Amino acid sequence: MFEYAPAPESRSIVDIKPSYGLFVDGQWIDGQVRDKTVNPANEEVLAEVAWATESEVDAAVRAARAAYENVWSTMPGRERAKYLFRIARIIQERARELAVLESLDNGKPIRESRDVDVPLVAAHFFYYAGWADKLGYAGFGASPRPIGVAGQVIPWNFPLLMLAWKIAPALAAGNTVVLKPAETTPLTALVFAEICQEAELPPGVVNIVTGAGETGHALVSHPGVDKVAFTGSTEVGRAIARAVAGSRKKLTLELGGKAANIVFEDAPIDQAVEGIVNGIFFNQGHVCCAGSRLLVQESVYDEVLASLKRRMALLRVGDPLDKNTDIGAINSAAQLERIRTLSEIGSEEGASRWSPPCELPERGFWFAPTIFTGVTQAHRIAREEIFGPVLSVLTFRTPAEAVEKANNTPYGLSAGVWTDKGSRILWMADRLRAGVVWANTFNKFDPASPFGGYKESGYGREGGRHGLEAYLDV
Ligand code: NAD
Repeated sequence: MFEYAPAPESRSIVDIKPSYGLFVDGQWIDGQVRDKTVNPANEEVLAEVAWATESEVDAAVRAARAAYENVWSTMPGRERAKYLFRIARIIQERARELAVLESLDNGKPIRESRDVDVPLVAAHFFYYAGWADKLGYAGFGASPRPIGVAGQVIPWNFPLLMLAWKIAPALAAGNTVVLKPAETTPLTALVFAEICQEAELPPGVVNIVTGAGETGHALVSHPGVDKVAFTGSTEVGRAIARAVAGSRKKLTLELGGKAANIVFEDAPIDQAVEGIVNGIFFNQGHVCCAGSRLLVQESVYDEVLASLKRRMALLRVGDPLDKNTDIGAINSAAQLERIRTLSEIGSEEGASRWSPPCELPERGFWFAPTIFTGVTQAHRIAREEIFGPVLSVLTFRTPAEAVEKANNTPYGLSAGVWTDKGSRILWMADRLRAGVVWANTFNKFDPASPFGGYKESGYGREGGRHGLEAYLDV
């Protein structure tokens, strides 16, 4: 086995300011309340960030309303498209800076922020730029109208990518936005605000208000917001559904998941093992569609498990800025605590826990890649979303049993199927109650492809032509 020399990406490309205000009406305003955002890999304070109050959120919504009425909704689609293309190109130009900043604030490996997050962010803006002057061909009527002001609240696991999923279709359709990033990962959204200035986007079209749950609540319940889009936990999603109930606001919710990744005996086992690892350890398992329940056909269980353990022993956990790193830091102390608690419950309930030998850094928030075997459907680790690098392994004998176990969850966001047979893929895809079913791959994303869940995973679709619907008055 090769030893790897450290290959850290330089952080000198990012220029983090000591403190950030709120981006309202194309200007930076100070904000009355502030808190710190830290690097989860070493607990170093990165910057102070404003936590927007109700009156500051109100100012942002008013700015978005004025920009909607006076500029953006009346601008021809081909003109709006030019701004979106410009934003996409600036993102590409500043890609390295954005990737380093995302890894610093979130803890994800630079390999992922550089090769997955940021390229997909640019791709989303390019993709929706293309739709801005073709809305009449999207299948929602000949001349669909925008809705108005969108209030958007996003989580910390893919900070800039979730921003792109929300802002790109909203602007393409002619809406203006007020977006609140997660309190632990605000920095790339604040640089995005600078990018909007650089692109000379008219003031008020995009407003960024940082802060925690109260700021989010003030935004989604503001009477001047016409459309609410939320990605985050099922619990907060429910609270938001209650907050907007009875109003005329349109709502889309992208919530949690507990995906089954199903390996049949005829699957190419080496590829399947790569897919299992990618399914649960990508982004430290902080992925709503993570393949957190592995279902293996009993006849190949020993082979799959031995191969999975061999592969896991090669995963490199550590400095997110090192280009060799596979698994970075857990995003926050609170999330680490949640992962620890659920893992302890897994052991207490009788499942067997295994992690490869790996040294974790002393400072920061870290959790070794972990699998649980001997898991039954009744175990909490098989039912609840852990949102960390923890895999529960179950077995099945027949395809019908695989379907039944896979669907035995309150969630319905994604699933994976590994098999040599095309007919079996189609048979399974017809029966799995999940918004996305990957076949012989996992965690693949494309701006042209819709994404979203059933049941407690939420409603509405983001991405693709379908993603426009949420931002059009259809
Ligand atoms: P969270 O629900 O705690 O927070 C999400 C966002 O909501 C944050 O910005 C937070 O400040 C804000 N918020 C908190 N309380 C609020 C309130 N009462 N009103 C309005 N906003 C409020 O979730 P999290 O811990 O940041 O993210 C993890 C969750 O997100 C997981 O459950 C994961 O599955 C889910 N997620 C889903 C998708 C998807 O597309 N389905 C994508 C990424 C993450």
